[in-house]
Parts: sequence; C-alpha cells; structure tokens
Amino acid sequence: KLAAYAALRDVEPVSKDGTRIGVLINAGLRDDIAHLAITGADGVGLFRTEFQFLVSATLPQRERQLRLYRDVLDAAGEKPVIFRTLDIGGDKSLPYLREDSPGEENPAMGWRALRLALERDGLLKVQARALLEAAAGRTLNVMFPMVAEPWEFDAARQVFENQLAFLKARKKILPERIRYGAMLEVPALAETLDILGPKLDFLSIGTNDLTQFLLAADRAHPKLAQRYDWISTAILRFLRRVVRDVSPYKIDVTVCGEMGGRQLEALALLAIGMRRLSITPAAVGPIKAMVRSLDIAAASAKMEEMLANPPVDMRAELLRWAHANGV
Ligand code: PEP
Ligand code: MG
Repeated sequence: KLAAYAALRDVEPVSKDGTRIGVLINAGLRDDIAHLAITGADGVGLFRTEFQFLVSATLPQRERQLRLYRDVLDAAGEKPVIFRTLDIGGDKSLPYLREDSPGEENPAMGWRALRLALERDGLLKVQARALLEAAAGRTLNVMFPMVAEPWEFDAARQVFENQLAFLKARKKILPERIRYGAMLEVPALAETLDILGPKLDFLSIGTNDLTQFLLAADRAHPKLAQRYDWISTAILRFLRRVVRDVSPYKIDVTVCGEMGGRQLEALALLAIGMRRLSITPAAVGPIKAMVRSLDIAAASAKMEEMLANPPVDMRAELLRWAHANGV
C-alpha cells in the first residue's frame, strides 16, 4: 500500500466527477518541508510557528525566527506556505513565559494563541517583522489562531501593517503580496462571518479545537474519545453552514485539523462542500487515493440525506455507503 501511495505523488487529487481537491500539508519544522516534494502536495496549509518556540530553551530572537521562515519559503519554492502566528499558552506553555500564565482551570479556553499575542504584542511585533522580512519579494501568507471575534483579526493584521510601514520607511524589500487569513477554531466566529468574510483572503478551519469546543469534549481526554467524533450531525452541519456562509466572499476555505487526514472524515468534508484539506504528510497518499475513487456529487446526495435524517450510527452508515460505492 505504501508503494501505491508513493506512486500517487505525481497524480492529481481529482475526484471521479472531475473536481480538483487542494491537498496541502501541515508542518512545523524546517525539515517538514521536504514532504512537499515527497508527497506532491500543493503547499503547506498550516505552518505551526510555535514549534520553534517549544523546542527552544529560550525565547527565539527575531534573527532566528527570520532564518527559519526564510529557509521554509526557500525550501517550498513555488508552493505556498501559510504561516500561523504563535499558538502558545494553554497546554503549549513555554517555561520562559510561564510566569505570565498562572495555573489555569481550562487552558484550552485560556490565555493562549492570539489572546496572548495581542496582549504581549512585543512577541507578535517581532514575529511579524521576521515573517515580513523573510518574505521579501514574494508572497506572505499569514493566519491568526483562535480568532473569536472580528476585531481580533483586525488588531493582529494592524500589527503586521505597522511593521510593514516600519520596513517601508527603512527602504527594505517588502513582500510582493500579503494575504491574511483567520483560523476558525472558536465556534462564535461562525456567527460573524458576514463581518469577517470581506476582510479575509482565506479561512482555515481548525477542527481539532473547533470540535472540542462544539462538543464540549476535551480533545486529549481518553475517556471522551468516543464523543470526540467528527462524523457527527452537529459537526458536519456546522461545517456545511460555514462553507455556505463564506461562499459569497470567494475565498479559499481549508480544513487544517486532523479530521481532514482520515479517509472517511475527508470524504464527509468533501460531501459537505469543502475543497481544500491541509493534513499530516503521511495522509496525503491515502487521501489522494480516496479522492480519486470518489464521486463527490453522489457523496453529497448521501450526506444531505443523512444530515436531514441522521442515522443512529452515521459513521457506520457512511462507511457502508463508501464500500458499496467503490471508495
Ligand atoms: C486545530 O485546532 O485544528 C489546529 C489545526 O490547530 P492545533 O492542532 O495546532 O491546535
Ligand atoms: Mg488549534
């Protein structure tokens, strides 16, 4: 099977009924970028910049950040890379920042990600400078984690715009283009997509966090693993609504959570209208194979039927349908 997946490297993820699906990878380290060539993925849909911070004993200074981001862009070549700004705090706490974050009862819902970055904006300024300089003369794709309300996106974007003005005043080479995106991980953001949508260049759905918040089920709790199920009526209806609500803005919508890397879950995502998946590199082959065996129109019809009239075990029902339909 592995050899079969490797052979798919140069094969396009086109469904049986002719839809080209965007298949990208999630990454966090310099070496991860090699997986672009190995898998034939379309780009990096999520570069987790906090990895560099997590593996470092001290706060990485701007030069070190700049070097990493530049290396990543160099290694990716023509393929796009979407950098996510720091998602630290909560469970990804840093020893050298810990004094700011006393014991939290609910770290996942605590002082983390953009919340921390907007308050400790020195961190975000340095990161913005490093990203803007690394992307000199090319496109910078940047997105913000855990956006709960549109003003947070505006504030984060402003930090970048201020640094851009600073670099411009110093006659530095600027990025040719900057594309700003938000991650939808906090369910509340889905209620304000009409406000946020026109400001976005792209939207990325972090289904790992989104699911734990929608189901109120800790993503890491072993006793809740059964409940933390992506093939659920609520999750799929929610995601279907997001796809519909964002469609007027003609922006890329990508799922970058682990959900997209599982064959049955990816099938469900395509069936509700999702067209781009950013997944762990090992999943690219299996997902391409699934896409190529799938008639999306038929899957959508089946999904609409199930979401209107949910079977007791949707997972089993969808799996049966997939097998019966040669997926
Ligand atoms: C997510 O929440 O789905 C996501 C991609 O971000 P992370 O897993 O890094 O929290
Ligand atoms: Mg997340």
